[in-house]
Amino acid sequence: FKRIKLEERSQDELYEMGITFNRMIELLENNYDKQKQFVSNASHELRTPLTIIESYASLLKRRGLERPDLFTESIEAIHSEAVRMKEMTEQLLLLARHEEQWNLKLEPVDLSHQAAQLSREFWQAYNRRVEVVLSAELQAEAELCTIWTDGGKLRQLLFILLDNARKYSSEDMILELGFDDRSLDHSEHHEAGTRNRYIRVIDHGIGIPATELPKVFDRFYRVDQARTRQDTGGSGLGLTLAERIAEALGATIRLESEEGSGTTAIVTLPATAQHMAGFSANSN
Ligand code: ADP
Repeated sequence: FKRIKLEERSQDELYEMGITFNRMIELLENNYDKQKQFVSNASHELRTPLTIIESYASLLKRRGLERPDLFTESIEAIHSEAVRMKEMTEQLLLLARHEEQWNLKLEPVDLSHQAAQLSREFWQAYNRRVEVVLSAELQAEAELCTIWTDGGKLRQLLFILLDNARKYSSEDMILELGFDDRSLDHSEHHEAGTRNRYIRVIDHGIGIPATELPKVFDRFYRVDQARTRQDTGGSGLGLTLAERIAEALGATIRLESEEGSGTTAIVTLPATAQHMAGFSANSN
């Protein structure tokens, strides 16, 4: 990209236009570099499972008929790598779509209902228990569990957090709901109907070392690459996506973790639609 040469400092309009033009070039370059990095990371990440699939397939092609013992191992490896690739491409597509901006669908969402549903799903799909705990205030007034948000997006966000809790722990998980009086946008919300809610996803698993904690939201970042990849088949995209969804919902996510004893993901969520990032552009 070529920049306009700005010879001397004057206050005329052409000079101002030159400055604006150069700033636009800078932004474009920045974006272009980010896209290039993304494509390069994505191709690199997709190559790893493809290489494994390819090598097992060629092993089967050469020796499959005479060595039936290789069969189960190969098919299992091919299957699990294919599942991983599918998951990764789905997440990549969601992230790419996000760059174009998501359309939020606002509706009243009963948080305790949604939590119970997720809990049932984790039990059905993985035989893992998610205990749903409501704060005393929410228990006392069930209707305060309902907020205005995009239910589908919120579900996706919670699913990612619960799925991480499942992958990196082996005991029961906890999903806590309550009021969070921390301010999201520096304004004060005092009435019960408009106070922020928290949703905490708690696990007692392997935890995240303090030095890694700031990096886990980065695209493709995984703590202890070799071990976690083999065990869990993750992509390193889950938390990136979760953070983007939170942004769209006007929410925030924080992780608190201690290596060896577990992780808590805290989502702070506005109760009413006008706090949402995408609200004015997308609510129709
Ligand atoms: P992945 O698909 O690898 O789980 P994420 O972006 O969701 O990708 O998470 C990035 C990394 O953060 C994970 O690979 C894992 O090392 C770490 N991590 C995330 N959640 C947890 C958790 N609940 N407990 C321990 N480690 C976690």
